Amino acid sequence: MKRILIILLILIYNLFALNISQNIVKNANTVLVEINKKNISDVKLTFDKQNIDFFKNKFKKNTYSALVPISYYQKRKDYKVIVSYIENNKRVFKGLKLKVIDGKYKSEVINVSSNKLKPNPARVARTKKEYTQAMKVYNSKTQEILWNEDFIYPLNTKITSAFGTKRVYNGQLKSYHGGTDFRAANGTKIIASNSGIVRIAQNRFYAGNSIVIDHGFGVYSCYYHLSKMNFKEGDFIKKGQVLGLSGSTGRITGPHLHFAFRINGIQVDPLNAIFVLNQLKKP
Ligand SMILES: [Zn+2]
Repeated sequence: MKRILIILLILIYNLFALNISQNIVKNANTVLVEINKKNISDVKLTFDKQNIDFFKNKFKKNTYSALVPISYYQKRKDYKVIVSYIENNKRVFKGLKLKVIDGKYKSEVINVSSNKLKPNPARVARTKKEYTQAMKVYNSKTQEILWNEDFIYPLNTKITSAFGTKRVYNGQLKSYHGGTDFRAANGTKIIASNSGIVRIAQNRFYAGNSIVIDHGFGVYSCYYHLSKMNFKEGDFIKKGQVLGLSGSTGRITGPHLHFAFRINGIQVDPLNAIFVLNQLKKP
């Protein structure tokens, strides 16, 4: 009887050891996978040929966590997430189902002056360089969680343009909106969503004055179109500190804050990312 009970307890423990935040996910949202197990090592995950490392979750005992960012362009279909780890000198494999569905993002029409759209060689070279620099930052990983508290919004105003809206510029479908726009008159104080290291603090063609914060483990928050930047690259910034003032620098028509998120190099919905990241601390 005692033996059966022990076997049952081990079964239950193993059943709940591996958790996925959801089995159905919208494109551009983030999935959290966690494994709570003692005496395991080299915990890895594979999703659609991408390898993602787990990190030791400093907020929970014996817990390894992995963030799986789903690209906006990810094919809508059924996937299998493969988790593996070393236990008693053997690699153990587990599979989890994950279905990617369409986020049903809206469309909007934008009219901008044609000289901002026509490719000019100097501008093409500049934006290409800025993109390469930014991607180099987003694809690097600080192997430590740099934050201790929950992520917050950079300001609390009306959202004037949601993430993911398909953008039709002067009648042509060009891109989608890669962040969340918050209403912000020129000079509004913008605060850091959480603590981290400033990796980008520069003026860029599209984003204007831009601050990008590295929160560790491939998580980056971005603040664009600022009129003033209070920090420089390499500075440590604490959650809630005023990183700068809002403005209308870059390729936009009026002042606002464009707030964006990158996880493991992939652009994701920032408000969903905040919700998922804050689950890392929840039991
Ligand atoms: Zn925006």
